[in-house]
Amino acid sequence: MDNPLLAPEPLPAFMRIRPEHVEGAVREVLDANRARIGELATLERPTFATLIEPLEELHHRISRTWSPVSHLNAVLNSDALRESYNACLPLLSAYHTDLAQSEPLYRAYHAILEQQGAALAPVQRHLIEHAVRDFRLAGVGLPAERKERFKTAMLELAQLQAKFEENVLDATNSWTRHVTDAAELRGLNEMLIEQARRRAADERLPGWLLALDQPTYVAVVTDAESPQLRRAFYEAWTTRASDRGPNAGRWNNATVMEEILQRRHAAAQLLDFPNYAQYALATRMAHSVPEVLSFLHELAAAARGAAQAEFAELESFAGQPLAAWDVAFYAERLQRERFSVSQEELRPYFPLPRVLSGLFGVAERLFAVRIRERAGVAVWHEDVRFFDIENARGEPIGSFYLDAYARPNKRSGAWMDECIGRKRLASGAALPVAYLVCNFLPPGERRPALLTHDDVVTLFHEFGHGLHHLLTRVDYPSIAGINGVAWDAVELPSQFLENYAWHPEVLQRISGHFESGVPLPLEQQQRLIATRSFHAGLSMMRQLEFALFDFRIHTEYSPAHGGRIEQILREVRNEVAVVPVPEWNRFANSFGHIFAGGYAAGYYSYKWAEVLAADAFAAFEESGVFDPSTAQRFLDAILSRGGGRDALEAFIEFRGRRPEVGPLLKQHGIAAARGAT
Ligand SMILES: [Zn+2]
Repeated sequence: MDNPLLAPEPLPAFMRIRPEHVEGAVREVLDANRARIGELATLERPTFATLIEPLEELHHRISRTWSPVSHLNAVLNSDALRESYNACLPLLSAYHTDLAQSEPLYRAYHAILEQQGAALAPVQRHLIEHAVRDFRLAGVGLPAERKERFKTAMLELAQLQAKFEENVLDATNSWTRHVTDAAELRGLNEMLIEQARRRAADERLPGWLLALDQPTYVAVVTDAESPQLRRAFYEAWTTRASDRGPNAGRWNNATVMEEILQRRHAAAQLLDFPNYAQYALATRMAHSVPEVLSFLHELAAAARGAAQAEFAELESFAGQPLAAWDVAFYAERLQRERFSVSQEELRPYFPLPRVLSGLFGVAERLFAVRIRERAGVAVWHEDVRFFDIENARGEPIGSFYLDAYARPNKRSGAWMDECIGRKRLASGAALPVAYLVCNFLPPGERRPALLTHDDVVTLFHEFGHGLHHLLTRVDYPSIAGINGVAWDAVELPSQFLENYAWHPEVLQRISGHFESGVPLPLEQQQRLIATRSFHAGLSMMRQLEFALFDFRIHTEYSPAHGGRIEQILREVRNEVAVVPVPEWNRFANSFGHIFAGGYAAGYYSYKWAEVLAADAFAAFEESGVFDPSTAQRFLDAILSRGGGRDALEAFIEFRGRRPEVGPLLKQHGIAAARGAT
């Protein structure tokens, strides 16, 4: 069969890929890889060239086959494609597990490091250290009995996390609010009300039926004028899967949470880490528990004063003491009154062609590259565009697809993903290719696609990830671009580039009314920029509450005292909560990020990456945001290095010191509060 997924063409032949190609291609590549790995594992005296380079090539080969499939599954979904995609997931996961658990490979990597380490280039040594670390974290080096216990703990953990998620889902789906008095819906938008009316009709009920999904919850607490409705939603939402609230005791996650912490702690101890937080930090830029805790406490101390002032101002604006379910409602009104700038009104000033050329201009000026569109490339939809990046000497360095508009059968949100990873191996070379995917409103009959400023920031963010992937100079796929980058540092380039979308000089270039071409008027620009720091203190304290809670429960678990989840949450709130929280609030019971998702002992990384990005951008502000030598240093030290070096060392090389929180506080307008508490 002529299978386009197996054809070694420079770019995927998207238009020829059919669902029936998928499973055959994946099986063929996996079988071939397994056979080759079998040979490699028995090499007499393995070296970087004879073992690791070939393994990197195999890694590249799977990615070349799988990347177009998972991409199409996300942007051009169909039942048939989803079925073939799902059929491959267990195959890939078994393959990756076998690889991660391979004793012979672990020993071979280890031996190369021990015996030949001194003769290797730093990036090669880093690659091996990285791999050895991951083998170790997967339990490969453990004696048989401990290894079994580790595997069991991991397996049980997966089941417990799924159970946690299920309980939250059931609790969320079980609650609805039946409204028969239209007055109670005042303030809510038409779309939501119409949806609730249809839902009621489906159930043969009069009036409206509101569900507890996230968009509805957010809309109600932000817009509903009825405090009773807001409170009902707040209570239902923050007591999901707990011992309190309208479904008290049903789907209660308390025991599941305790067991999750217990398994994580046990798994970490089997690998000789004192606790789960320390285990999690083994792959992060932050290296120690005290480092993370003092980082969070430093931010809390700095932002508390600002948050208290914001809350006091909000209460005086509302003319009454505010309960937890009132805050979003009055904040929205205050923001509207103060800035009178709405995202919808900004759209005409941000036509996509103008924004794109401004964005490319930023990248070209900063990193001395040229971005040109290439016509005639095979794409998966007629709206998709293709661009090449060249360096100052006109040499190609990478390419990317841009799939900008929302359409049916395309996953929502925005993201950057790897189409082809950069490699330069004895077996061949490849330049990086990226997918940039957004879900903007498509163009109309007589107008281009018009973006809100939120959309513009999103585009800059994803393009920042794109540059990280495309400007890499690392030759080995497993650590090139965003691969192998510490998880708490991977958002640095994306959040860094966001800053440009807020900069007056850039706003001037990326905005231009789609009819008149006039840039966003100065006064509106200033009001827009001011919105960035609105309630920054309050939102910082909220994030810190989540981050401290997450980090402490994963540090302080002890078999004798258990998780002490409620107690630690109370202590954290006493320290950082500014808005009063009702005693019955059980938000932890539905905190899926840390109990079911990948953010365990990692919630701090949101703030961590923001601090890095703001501090890096401050270096540019100090010398001019387009200063070529600062940009060159950023490229050389961080952006081009991928996962090829320690993230903290990279930052220190660029900044000349460790990261500091000052620039983020300044960016949020809360620097003045520093030291005031
Ligand atoms: Zn991101």
